[in-house]
Amino acid sequence: MGSEWIGVDLDGTLAEYDEWRGVDHIGPPIPAMVERVRRWLAEGRRVKIVTARVSHPNDAAGAAAAIFKWCLEHLGAVLPVTCMKDYQMLELWDDRAVQVEPNTGRVLGRSTRGLD
Ligand SMILES: [Mg+2]
Repeated sequence: MGSEWIGVDLDGTLAEYDEWRGVDHIGPPIPAMVERVRRWLAEGRRVKIVTARVSHPNDAAGAAAAIFKWCLEHLGAVLPVTCMKDYQMLELWDDRAVQVEPNTGRVLGRSTRGLD
């Protein structure tokens, strides 16, 4: 599987999210997604947490520390955390993403916010 990795969003995808409560608060795990990530890890796949929580230099270290702790508790492993895509990112699983068909712009998923 090489260096390919699967990106998984945190808030609203892996962990329940309602409103911002600070870097130290991460919601309870979402079982279906946590089990999926655990399976990927057991299969030897690389998984990274992709979250805007580490996009602000002023609090990225504190945010990452909280995420590492959450990962260890709920996934049984500390996953890399990033807010960036790179060429090895195979897929991104994210509650805000809308999937489009390559090279056509045709929507395969749907906007949950009524955008078109
Ligand atoms: Mg999200």
